[in-house]
Amino acid sequence: MVDKNKTAIVWFRQDLRLDDNPALIAALKAGYKIIPLFILDDVHAGQWARGGASRWWLHESLQALNSSLDNALIFRKGDALTLIPELMASCEAEAIFWNRCYEPWRIKRDTDLKALLQDGGIQTHSFNASLLWEPWEIKKADGTPYKVFTPYYRKGCLGAGAIAAPLACETPLRFADQKVERGSVDDLELLPAIKWYNEMAEIWEPGEQGAQKRKDAFLEDGLKGYKEKRNRPDQNHVSRLSPHLHYGEISVRRLWHDASASGHAQNAETDLDCFHSELGWREFSTYLLYHFNDLPWENLNPRFNNFEWLENESDALERWRRGRTGIPIVDAGMRQLWREGWMHNRVRMIVASLLVKNMGIHWRKGAVWFWDTLVDADLASNSASWQWVAGSGADAAPYFRIFNPVTQGVKFDPEGLYVRRYVPELERVDNKYIHEPWKAPLPPKDYPSPIVDLKTSRKAALEAYAQTKEGA
Ligand code: FAD
Repeated sequence: MVDKNKTAIVWFRQDLRLDDNPALIAALKAGYKIIPLFILDDVHAGQWARGGASRWWLHESLQALNSSLDNALIFRKGDALTLIPELMASCEAEAIFWNRCYEPWRIKRDTDLKALLQDGGIQTHSFNASLLWEPWEIKKADGTPYKVFTPYYRKGCLGAGAIAAPLACETPLRFADQKVERGSVDDLELLPAIKWYNEMAEIWEPGEQGAQKRKDAFLEDGLKGYKEKRNRPDQNHVSRLSPHLHYGEISVRRLWHDASASGHAQNAETDLDCFHSELGWREFSTYLLYHFNDLPWENLNPRFNNFEWLENESDALERWRRGRTGIPIVDAGMRQLWREGWMHNRVRMIVASLLVKNMGIHWRKGAVWFWDTLVDADLASNSASWQWVAGSGADAAPYFRIFNPVTQGVKFDPEGLYVRRYVPELERVDNKYIHEPWKAPLPPKDYPSPIVDLKTSRKAALEAYAQTKEGA
């Protein structure tokens, strides 16, 4: 136990919550008076500085966290390697606590910071708050990392033993006296000048409380039937917890255990297993990024390095971004993304497949757009998923598996409810033609013709891929 007047900084990062927050709880339990801190460090993030939608979310989430912390949160913007030592000195703090992040740029920065602080006699303590399994702990028998999901998850992760129970924050919060300016969330300048986020603000409640509510609603109404209905964008059977998980407003351990209790109580074992495995995909993405740092930029499968992507793609790319491809389920997805900062997983796969395979545009261009527009933009999940769809990633969908957006639409949005919700031009189109309005006797005049012919573009994609194989 330390002297009760000693102070420690608790540095909040992707763990914007009090519940099951190991760094916060450890600092309080050790008897420190705490100085809670958040730094917007775009200096080290570089090209991976957060995109627009994600910044809006962060602004709201920090406000919620600050109010849970009795408005004691200190806000700073800039280089953490300079700001933290300065703050430690000004506040006479003797230790710093944080929860680990796994993006390569953060690992490098945090390692440098640790060395710098320890050289100056400061104690640093880091914890795992955002993963069920640390990436370095799960290895194949030969010591190399897994590249295929099922053995990684079933053998590596589930075989590693029980998942630790979440921690409750039972020690009362004790804040150190204020010795520096706190600043405010507005100093971070996360919000744009034009308020394009009003619609997002209506549907989302960023912050720990919003995350709890969404989790409870999902476990009550969405978990049972999840396995089958999670593929239906016209229904409400996914959790929409991804931005809350990304910002650590809910602990994945808490979610895993609460889902278990709810799934068992509802006799929904198969749905529970499926939901758990989706959390497993989140872990797998982080695992891949940890072991293959180039994942956001380089093809994991080098055979794709020879692929000839479309050049002069800007007009086509812009139509895809704006939801004007003339392919209803794709346009619905892209417009949902623009309005809500989120898109259903099935539709993410369909829009990505169209861009990469039918339109021949590099997966990076799509990933960059998602990075800017998703509220759940996550370097690991975004990069791994784009490479998965492109066929260049780990355990990827085989290249020849090209989603047909018409048959996907008919299967997963049979009455066109999802399409009509986001593409009002198609409101009056008969169900029979809702996923291929160009075949309707009177196609709607204000809706574009398809950007590509699905059949011929599929054939061209397969031929291009075959050449890559020969050239490899
Ligand atoms: P649920 O079905 O309720 O699943 C629960 C949680 O499991 C999710 O919140 C998420 O954390 C995790 N999860 C589910 N599916 C996946 C998956 N395939 N990969 C990784 N984690 C998963 N997810 C992100 O969080 N951030 C991204 O930037 C992102 N980019 C994507 C890009 C593409 C092209 C594709 C195809 C998928 C992407 N995903 C991304 C994965 C997935 O689409 C979302 O996690 C999911 O749609 C979130 O909705 P949900 O919370 O309702 O999911």
